Amino acid sequence: MSGPPPSKVFVITGPSGVGKGSLISLLRHRIPELELSTSATTRKPRTGEQQGVDYHFLDEREFLDRVERGEFLEHAAYSGNHYGTLRSEVEGRVEAGHPVVLEIEVQGARQVAASMPEAVQIFIAPPELSTLKLRLEGRGTDSPDAIARRLEVAEEELAARDEFHHQVVNDELERALDELEAIVRSKLSESR
Ligand code: 5GP
Repeated sequence: MSGPPPSKVFVITGPSGVGKGSLISLLRHRIPELELSTSATTRKPRTGEQQGVDYHFLDEREFLDRVERGEFLEHAAYSGNHYGTLRSEVEGRVEAGHPVVLEIEVQGARQVAASMPEAVQIFIAPPELSTLKLRLEGRGTDSPDAIARRLEVAEEELAARDEFHHQVVNDELERALDELEAIVRSKLSESR
């Protein structure tokens, strides 16, 4: 019995403001073969964000049409907008044997866990909730209202942490990055 082939899909989830994006970009410097899935969203671009690079920015109608057509591996409503992973961002890469990283919120991560149980799920947790507030405020990209909404969702998201295979507490960036790197390298070496 050889079992299913080990997956090279890495799902990185956790609350907004926990540092998923920073950890992933540093991780990709250390492991350049990791390819990042570019998500689709109906959120408006923030200053400096580029179409097709940071996100595929879609209007609501196009997003929902593409949901209807079954083009999403997962999708979720988050803080008043839709976010989702297009199958086209993942499937070709997996078939070509390239490792892919998804940076997504918890509802989407649950969907991927259900449809792709072989995907490696990693939950990034803050050392405490107050850290998230400081990070969201410090990032300066969201209004006070939006920050308050994100923090409410974050409490629910934190309660879900035990559902995932691995948890990394982002208490200190370098330490958390080492831990994340060790998990990813160990999975990549299993699949070779
Ligand atoms: P932001 O608006 O800060 O870019 O993203 C808000 C939240 O949506 C973050 O937690 C981010 O990880 C998550 N997110 C980004 N892309 C996707 C996606 O494709 N699917 C899901 N489910 N969540 C996403």
